[in-house]
Amino acid sequence: MSLFKRDKTSTSDNGGQANLARLALNSIHDGVMITDKSGVVKFINPAAIAMTECGSFENATGLSYNMLIRLQSKEGRELSENENPLVQAMNTNQPLEHFVACLIGVSSGKVIPIALSVTPADDGQGDRVITFRNVTKELAEEGEQAEFISTASHEMRTPVATIDGYLSLALNPQTATIDERARGYLSAAQAASKHLGKLFQDLLDVTKLDDGRIRPHLMPMEMVGAIKQISDAHAMRAAEAKINYRFGSDDPSAFSNARHLEQVVYGFVDPDFLREIMDNLIDNAIKYTPTGGSIYVNVRGDGDRVLINVTDTGIGISSEDIGHIFQKFYRADNSDTREIGGTGLGLYLVKQRVESMGGRVWAESGFGEGSTFFVSLPRITGEEYEKRMIVIRNQQALQAQAAAPAPVQPAPAATPPAPPVAPVSPPVAPPAPTQPQTQPQQNINQNGGTR
Ligand code: ADP
Repeated sequence: MSLFKRDKTSTSDNGGQANLARLALNSIHDGVMITDKSGVVKFINPAAIAMTECGSFENATGLSYNMLIRLQSKEGRELSENENPLVQAMNTNQPLEHFVACLIGVSSGKVIPIALSVTPADDGQGDRVITFRNVTKELAEEGEQAEFISTASHEMRTPVATIDGYLSLALNPQTATIDERARGYLSAAQAASKHLGKLFQDLLDVTKLDDGRIRPHLMPMEMVGAIKQISDAHAMRAAEAKINYRFGSDDPSAFSNARHLEQVVYGFVDPDFLREIMDNLIDNAIKYTPTGGSIYVNVRGDGDRVLINVTDTGIGISSEDIGHIFQKFYRADNSDTREIGGTGLGLYLVKQRVESMGGRVWAESGFGEGSTFFVSLPRITGEEYEKRMIVIRNQQALQAQAAAPAPVQPAPAATPPAPPVAPVSPPVAPPAPTQPQTQPQQNINQNGGTR
């Protein structure tokens, strides 16, 4: 029974219930703030007053929530509205779950890590409930765990690679002779060792990301073309699994992709993060869609956001599971998913990568009804894209100049030296990427950016 809703006739009881609710809100350690639909604070509990350092209930009420909840990233940069998932959730009246960022105290400027959630209230007035929790202790414990996981996975990857290598030799007819039954056993062992290798790699990626060793290197990018290239690389695998794949439309009867490809949408993203996000979402769409199903990938501009969706007609996600799928190691447990392998880390990685670029990811689905995963990323204008590209080209030209061998000094000669000759053409070639890519880059890193 709700503490706030009761039989309308029992007025005195209503007062009692309201007191109990106030008592509960005043004694919990989590910050709670309730705003109206335009974000003006109507209620704030003592924990939120202490964390935001706003002084008192009276000071806070009537102010906009974003004057009290100022956030900065792990790297210490104050989040602009454009890259702040809290602002996006408040503006669109969408739920936000467990967004971790650093809260800047309004009076001392002291910073504490918090986990933030937003819940649209179902009171018919468009109120929003913002809750936040100090996660300093949790992060310290996670740090210790991460250190252990990182070392352990790193150490275990080597023997797993050795096992995999020997299994490959045993299965190769040129290096070993085995009967069919042994081949079956060894093939199963190899599939398991590959799964283990992937798990260790995912764990390493997750710990590197959690402790801030992997940071986004943002680049201006034309998003429709870039995402089409990444997505189209999965078309063959989808076809092998007998799943229809279409880019540029979620309408199966759409005449062609051309309409969507005409739209030019610019973003400011990390090209490698974008690839990982799309690869994970499309891999899942293929994995969780039975033969005969369909997958649609779409990108469009939506105000100051780039909105990407990966839609499938697969097994779907139940309402109990959907709130948890972005958590580390979470896997929906049902007869369908039990048969399909996975580590429960893919969507966690996706969420971390998206949020590190100032974006938001969420899913809409129902069990047996297919799923749509949305990714919303900051959008830049064509003008901003051009400006940023000029800066990058200039930096590349300078780097190329610095890397070019110094001109050879002419040896001293008896005859007077010739006047210095101006270079025929300036060095304009961008430097080659410094790190090998795990997959062909396919022009995603269009501006020659390196990590
Ligand atoms: P996994 O390695 O298990 O696929 P993920 O983190 O990628 O891990 O996904 C977490 C869980 O979310 C999955 O175990 C699955 O239950 C659910 N899930 C993810 N994508 C889809 C999808 N496209 N359709 C149905 N369920 C999905």
